[in-house]
Amino acid sequence: MKIAICIKQVPDSWAEKKMVNGLLDRINVDAVLNDLDEYAVEEGLRIAEAHGGNEEGAANSVTVISMGPERATEAVRKALSMGANNAILISDPKLAGADALTTSKVLASVILKGEFDIVICGTESTDARMSVVPAMIAERLSCAQLTFASAVTVDPAAKKVVITRVTEAGVDEMFGQFPVVVSVVEKINEPRYPSFKGIMAAKKKTIEVLDLSAVGISIENAWSVVVDAAPRPPRAAGIRITDDGGGGDQLVKFLTEKKLI
Ligand SMILES: Cc1cc2nc3c(=O)[nH]c(=O)nc-3n(C[C@H](O)[C@H](O)[C@H](O)COP(=O)(O)OP(=O)(O)OC[C@H]3O[C@@H](n4cnc5c(N)ncnc54)[C@H](O)[C@@H]3O)c2cc1C
Repeated sequence: MKIAICIKQVPDSWAEKKMVNGLLDRINVDAVLNDLDEYAVEEGLRIAEAHGGNEEGAANSVTVISMGPERATEAVRKALSMGANNAILISDPKLAGADALTTSKVLASVILKGEFDIVICGTESTDARMSVVPAMIAERLSCAQLTFASAVTVDPAAKKVVITRVTEAGVDEMFGQFPVVVSVVEKINEPRYPSFKGIMAAKKKTIEVLDLSAVGISIENAWSVVVDAAPRPPRAAGIRITDDGGGGDQLVKFLTEKKLI
């Protein structure tokens, strides 16, 4: 099986984020591998290990695909040190400020060329949190999408993937035939920590860096552009109620005013 994992490098959740000319400053900020994508990498490795492994010469391969600035190689190396075989980074100055439509177009083009059987994504990035790219990729590839998976089972012989999805209404079980796009939720698994051996091996693994001409596509201007951004106002202090016997009444009055009861 050829397994692809889409990973994004994002600003560290704890880092102070700045917008520069309507774009998120992705250079002067600590950056990490997107949280949810660590679960995606782990799930891809577990699928390969459950069906013959992804070592040199094994039946399966796990390829990491990322679109981002040159420094996104840091996040890509993290995924390689977890055990992925190789990586493709699409990096081009023209992609700065790319919207989700463009991101999905670029990723889908590379995935199509790679003829992957299973594409695994996280359900969302921690910077823009749009939760749309996996579905957009599947739409562009005209293939099945199995999103928000909390469990994934693969039958390579039948070229079939079955997922479990937990919803408010209950639990869905869905399946799709290769090629298929899957997105995984947090806590689907316990991502492994890269071993020292894994970190050293990752230094030798191939990261193919492509610009847009190498991908062979042109892009349009972003359909959605951030025109202005303002820091969230500091949280206002709460209301303190001193219970001098009337605390309950005051609480009910407060909740009623807020239409919470
Ligand atoms: C603050 C902010 C606001 C934004 N608002 C908009 C907006 O309103 N409309 C719009 O179209 N774009 C917007 N963008 C741009 C958007 O973030 C990027 O286009 C992004 O690459 C896709 O959206 P996402 O990160 O929300 O992806 P999501 O759909 O949340 O990502 C889900 C999964 O897709 C995969 N994935 C996402 N991006 C990449 C990547 N670059 N490389 C590899 N895999 C990836 C990962 O597996 C990820 O877990 C915004 C960006 C920021 C920082």
